[in-house]
Amino acid sequence: MKCTRCRATANVEVRRHRSAFCAGCYPGWFREQVGRTIQHGRMFRRDDRVLVAVSGGKDSLALWHVLKTLGYQADGMYIRLGIADYSRRSQAKSEAFAAKHGLTLHQVDLKAEYGFEVPDLLDTRSGKPCAACGTVKRYHFNKLAADLGYSVVATGHNLDDEAATLFGNVIHWQTDYLGRQGPVLESTHPKLVRKVKPLYKLGERESAAYAIIERLDYILEECPMAKGAKSLAYKDLLNRLEEQQPGAKYRFLTGFLKQGRAALGAQPIPIQLGECAVCGQPTTAAVCAHCRMAERGRRKAESKALKYGAS
Ligand code: SF4
Ligand SMILES: [Zn+2]
Ligand SMILES: [Zn+2]
Repeated sequence: MKCTRCRATANVEVRRHRSAFCAGCYPGWFREQVGRTIQHGRMFRRDDRVLVAVSGGKDSLALWHVLKTLGYQADGMYIRLGIADYSRRSQAKSEAFAAKHGLTLHQVDLKAEYGFEVPDLLDTRSGKPCAACGTVKRYHFNKLAADLGYSVVATGHNLDDEAATLFGNVIHWQTDYLGRQGPVLESTHPKLVRKVKPLYKLGERESAAYAIIERLDYILEECPMAKGAKSLAYKDLLNRLEEQQPGAKYRFLTGFLKQGRAALGAQPIPIQLGECAVCGQPTTAAVCAHCRMAERGRRKAESKALKYGAS
């Protein structure tokens, strides 16, 4: 297999593009794809301040690296979720990356600042904290971005993530979520910052290849809470389909964004937003989901402390 650009021996094949690249040409191709997605999607411009949601994994570090290399003003933000060793290692990777590249990394420490950690938010039915964790992450990325005057929050969601989310929303016909799914989520309130996903057209394997070739030191392990998650089963199914039909994932997602959303009549419903009585952040309820969750998490953390303190 030869490199599509320079005819040297190729190291990375991108089957849905019918192309392959050597290690010298691949990072440039990857950055061009991200740059094009940002421009075509009007995600942000060079004078915008971008806050990258960083987890220490390949996607978020690859995204941050690409944005800096392309000359965007991009700082990072890491949330200390308190998921035991996984959190310690992912924090260390994120801090090391920022230090090595001379970048600013903001951090929020849930335990120190809010008195709870993500494992205190287990859902009794699913036995997982993922839904609550998602709310916590969205809340803090938005709040910090708004408080510090960033114009946009960028996340490392890739094609595999987005296709799996779409698949899950379709098989359960979650039309309200379908209406909101897309690579750009516009601000609908002065305290809500735009959200963008510049990697949404690139596969998981492609960001891993970028991270490896650029020698980005990222955390290899998945969050232990992800085990058994439905999204992993959807990814597995879509990977099998992709094996037989290269490009199926890409066509599924981009076809939905171009035609499916409109055909479903899935338009985001304008929602009247007020401000949370506790924290002042935008919400449809009197007290926002994060503050209600934090209260529950603190009670759980306190009862754990009492239990272990007493024994
Ligand atoms: S797998 Fe669940 S708990 Fe772990 S980081 Fe993701 S959403 Fe949070
Ligand atoms: Zn080449
Ligand atoms: Zn609140």
